[in-house]
Amino acid sequence: MKILDIKALQILDSRGNPTLQVDVMLEDGSKGTFQVPSGASTGIHEAHELRDENKNIYHGKSVYQAVENINTIKDRLIGINFTQKTLDKNLIEIDGTENKSIIGANSILGISVAFAKASAKFYNLPLYEYLSRLINEKSFTNKSMAELVAPQLFANIINGGLHSGNKLNIQEFMILPNLGDLELNIKATCEIYQTLKTLIEHDYGKSQTAVGDEGGFAPDLSKSTESLDLIVKAIKKSNYEGQVYLALDAAASDFYDKETKLYEVEVGLKLNYKELTKYYSDLCENYPLISIEDAMDEDDFEGFAYFLKYGPKLKFKNHLTNNKTLLSVGDDLTVTNKQRIQMAIDKKLCNCLLLKINQIGSLSESIESYKLAKSKNWQVIVSHRSGETPDDFISDLAVAMQSSIKLGAPARGERVAKYNRLLNIFN
Ligand code: PEP
Ligand code: MG
Repeated sequence: MKILDIKALQILDSRGNPTLQVDVMLEDGSKGTFQVPSGASTGIHEAHELRDENKNIYHGKSVYQAVENINTIKDRLIGINFTQKTLDKNLIEIDGTENKSIIGANSILGISVAFAKASAKFYNLPLYEYLSRLINEKSFTNKSMAELVAPQLFANIINGGLHSGNKLNIQEFMILPNLGDLELNIKATCEIYQTLKTLIEHDYGKSQTAVGDEGGFAPDLSKSTESLDLIVKAIKKSNYEGQVYLALDAAASDFYDKETKLYEVEVGLKLNYKELTKYYSDLCENYPLISIEDAMDEDDFEGFAYFLKYGPKLKFKNHLTNNKTLLSVGDDLTVTNKQRIQMAIDKKLCNCLLLKINQIGSLSESIESYKLAKSKNWQVIVSHRSGETPDDFISDLAVAMQSSIKLGAPARGERVAKYNRLLNIFN
């Protein structure tokens, strides 16, 4: 497919920070648009998100240079016949750095995903179907469609850490409805979410029901068990007991002190990695948790290896793995980067990949990371970022990858867009 034109524009994300929108037009008139997301608790090993760093403009966060970079390189792309792989390879070569710091991972990803969206239109395929064929290296012109499997929802309904102003150091408290049907799972998520609001209102007052960056409530709690108790109560009150599991994203890099090697998992509670593992194990004893993300700091390999080996053992079968294994999810640890994932495989650091396309900066590399994780029987969770746009690409990608999806609470337009896209796909 030949690229006819590329356009880049600075737009806003869900935190009111600038981000990129990229349009790619193909020779037949097919157009794809992608709005690039942005993290807050970003891993230090992520590809480089290019920002202008001028403190007087959008507090340093404008992306005018990234727009200019796209305008500069587009002449080297227009008129050339590309596949997704050759386009991404070309973009990576133009940048020429390990972490995409010259052109910017945001610029490269913008072009990469906009091209994929335009390509789906070119072949007249639904986006998830196009992506499924791209991933599985199947023909784009064949008539038979892949079987649709609804992703497991990881819905973040209490926000802490860098995504809220409260004292919870653990970043995300998620529910995983398991009712066997996407619509029922979304219904359960919304009902539990609304019930949680009434419980918070009742126990802590109306002022505590404001939401954090990912749409989950952000009451001024400090203890993890207080959050989990509220969620369990909301599940029971909504009549979903036994049908909804729980997950955490500790985002532990954000409460790790590299000097003392201690984790302040709750205000005033400072633990070494062995004690922290025990802390998580106690939570798993008492709550239906099946997944903990970034349990340790992104470079604490000893901690991650210890957690995987000696960490929580489930008392029941995890429906995602069909055994009693807790998912130990790598996010900041693995940053959707093949080298980091390979290292985590070799050192036995985790068993599940959180896949964020903007961590690595191109669709082809995200697919390679997915394949590597799958080849080792890891679970994969396609994830949003805390800074999002209404772009719903990740819903199609999760369906194409037959993986789980982490998509925030069913509140705030940029989160709801992902739920609504899933409802449309499975309608
Ligand atoms: C996460 O840590 O998994 C997350 C979604 O947050 P952020 O986008 O801030 O990294
Ligand atoms: Mg995370």
